[in-house]
Amino acid sequence: MKRILSLVLCAGMVLIGGSGCGKSAKDTPYQKTNIAMGTMVTQTIYAEGADELASHIDILLQQLETEELSYRLPDSKVSKINQSLGNGETPVIQAPLDTYIQDCLKLWEQSDGALDITLGKVVSLWNIDTYSANGGEGFEVPSKEAIEEALSQAGMEKIHLQNNLVPQDDQTTQQNSQPSSQFTFDGPVSLDLGAVGKGIALDRIHDVLMEGGASAAIIQVGGSVLTYGEKPNGQPFKVAVVNPLDTGKQLGYLSLKGQWCVSTSGDYERYVEKDGVRYHHILDPKTGYPVDNELCSVTILAKNGFLSDALSTACFVCGTKTGMELAKACEVEALFVNKNGELTMTEGMQKIFVENKQ
Ligand code: FAD
Ligand code: MG
Repeated sequence: MKRILSLVLCAGMVLIGGSGCGKSAKDTPYQKTNIAMGTMVTQTIYAEGADELASHIDILLQQLETEELSYRLPDSKVSKINQSLGNGETPVIQAPLDTYIQDCLKLWEQSDGALDITLGKVVSLWNIDTYSANGGEGFEVPSKEAIEEALSQAGMEKIHLQNNLVPQDDQTTQQNSQPSSQFTFDGPVSLDLGAVGKGIALDRIHDVLMEGGASAAIIQVGGSVLTYGEKPNGQPFKVAVVNPLDTGKQLGYLSLKGQWCVSTSGDYERYVEKDGVRYHHILDPKTGYPVDNELCSVTILAKNGFLSDALSTACFVCGTKTGMELAKACEVEALFVNKNGELTMTEGMQKIFVENKQ
C-alpha cells in the first residue's frame, strides 16, 4: 500500500513539475500551467533546469503583454501608439514592433485585407472577449451607425511605411532588429495585435528554449502551440485539434517532429449568443461584423508562430476556397472545418493530420 502511494505521488510530481522519479531531468518533462494574454498557457519542457526556463517564459509573456502588445494596458507600446494617434501625433515605432507591423502589412496585402490589425475600435465596440467571459450578460449588438463610425477609423491602407530598410522577401519576424522603418498614419486608427500576439509569443519562447538548451518542449498559448526539439523517446508530438461542433471532443491530432507552430482560429470559444445568433470575435474588416461564412475553424501549421497565428485568422476571414489559396501562397499547411463538420486540407496537412475514428 505504502509502495502504491509513493508511486502515485511520484506520478503526480511528474505532472505538476517534478523530476524526481529516478529519471534525469532531460528525460522527464517539467509541466506548468498559467494564465497570460487572457488565456491558458501550458508548458511541457525537457531540459536540465526546466523549472527556471519555465519561469523565464512566464516573465517573458508577462513583459510581452504589459510592455509591448496589450492595447488594454495603458503602458504598453501598442497603447502608447494608440494614444499618440488619438492625439493626432505621429508615433515613433521601435523594433521589434515595427517589424511586426510590416509583417502584418504584407499579410494584409496578401490576404486582400482579411488580416487587419487596425480594427481596434471595432473590436472594442463589440467587446466580445468580455461578454464571452461573463456569459453574455449585458451584451447588445452595436448599432449599424456605431459600427460604421468605428470602421471608418480602421483600414491598413491608412498605414504608410517610410524608409523601409528590411528586406521585402523576408516574412519571418526579426525580433532583434534595430529600428529600421517609420510609419505615417492617415488618422487615428487603433492597433489591436490580438490576431498575432500569441504567435509572436511562441517565436520569442522558441528563442528562450534554444538559449536555455532545452532538448524538447511543447508550449501552448491559448489556441497556438509550439513544438520544439525531439522527445527523449523519439516519439512525435501530438497536437490535438478540437471539434468546433462539439468542443468536448477532438477531431484528431497533428503528428509532428521538430519545430512547428500550430494555431487555430474559430467561432466556438470567444462568442456571445443573442436571439439565436452567434456573435464571435473574428471580424470581417469589410463589414465590421463577425465573419459570417461556412467555416467554424481553421488550423494552420507553419514554421513560425507569427505566420501560423496571422494566417489562422486571415484564412478564417477568407473562407475555405480563398483561404486554401492563401495558405498555399504562404507555404503553410491548413485544415478548414465547415459548419457541416466537413474537413478541407492542404496536401501536406493530409499527411500529418491523424483523424479520430468516431
Ligand atoms: P485569433 O483569430 O488569432 O485572433 C482574433 C482576435 O484578433 C480578435 O479577438 C480581435 O482581437 C482581433 N481580430 C478580429 N478580427 C480580426 C481581423 N480580421 N484581422 C485582425 N485581427 C482581428 N483577452 C481577454 O479576454 N482579456 C485580456 O486581458 C487579454 N489580453 C491579451 C493580451 C495580449 C497581449 C494578447 C495577444 C491577447 C489578449 N487577450 C485577452 C486575447 C485577445 O483579446 C484575443 O481574443 C485573442 O488574442 C484571440 O486569439 P485567438 O487565437 O483566439 O484568435
Ligand atoms: Mg490568429
